[in-house]
Amino acid sequence: MQLPKIKNGLSIGIMGGTFDPIHLGHLVIAEEVRIQFKLDKVIFVPTGHPPHKPAAGVTNPEHRYLMTVLATMNNPYFTVSRVEIDCLKGTTYTIDTIRFFKEYFGGDVNLYFITGADAIMEITSWKDYKELVSICHFIAATRPGYTLKKVKDTIRKKCPEVLEQISVLEIPAMQISSTLIRERVRAGKPIKYLTPDSVTAYIYKNGLYRDVSHKV
Ligand code: NAP
Repeated sequence: MQLPKIKNGLSIGIMGGTFDPIHLGHLVIAEEVRIQFKLDKVIFVPTGHPPHKPAAGVTNPEHRYLMTVLATMNNPYFTVSRVEIDCLKGTTYTIDTIRFFKEYFGGDVNLYFITGADAIMEITSWKDYKELVSICHFIAATRPGYTLKKVKDTIRKKCPEVLEQISVLEIPAMQISSTLIRERVRAGKPIKYLTPDSVTAYIYKNGLYRDVSHKV
């Protein structure tokens, strides 16, 4: 794979997602991208109120944030940001998050936004996407069976000029999904080895995914 041009300065991964809940697939992706792209740090950014999801369908952001902190605490390169959760403006857009980190780290930083390929294939509907791809490189993680070609063809068809700013990685551990974990908890099935033990304990202790009272 051809790596994007790296200028001087820090290289920071911004791992955006709902993380409802965070799982081992997310952690494997973040670590794999950190190594492949020689990142200095990966910042996990749990969504606040993203434009594409009804708030009522998602678990309270405080729970999602705390699970993300628990899951990442053993990795010295990982941190978690509340920037989208604490955003007072209501809907949170990735462009605002990226502008925030650009300003926070200063001009010389190289930002890489890491998220699921399904989300990135819709990038042309995101707010100010042309500016977004001009200030940040995108890394789309796919599940097995979701071929790299399919992802690239979809993006090429919608917006060929952004293709160069998007790298696609196939990650076998992404066979795990947040939906799968929520369904297993609801059905009373074990989730061991799908998410860190600390997150499993947090889910059970707080009764997440068993009833709707934890949704926003
Ligand atoms: P989603 O619709 O919940 O997820 C889409 C797919 O991507 C799912 O298969 C999901 O699997 C996977 N995924 C999500 N985050 C991932 C990550 N960090 N690494 C690997 N796979 C990931 O998408 P979402 O989580 O709500 O949104 C993803 C990111 O895109 C968020 O940061 C969101 O703010 C951003 N976004 C921005 C805009 C905008 O600015 N207009 C619009 C849409 C999305 P799991 O369910 O297993 O995670």
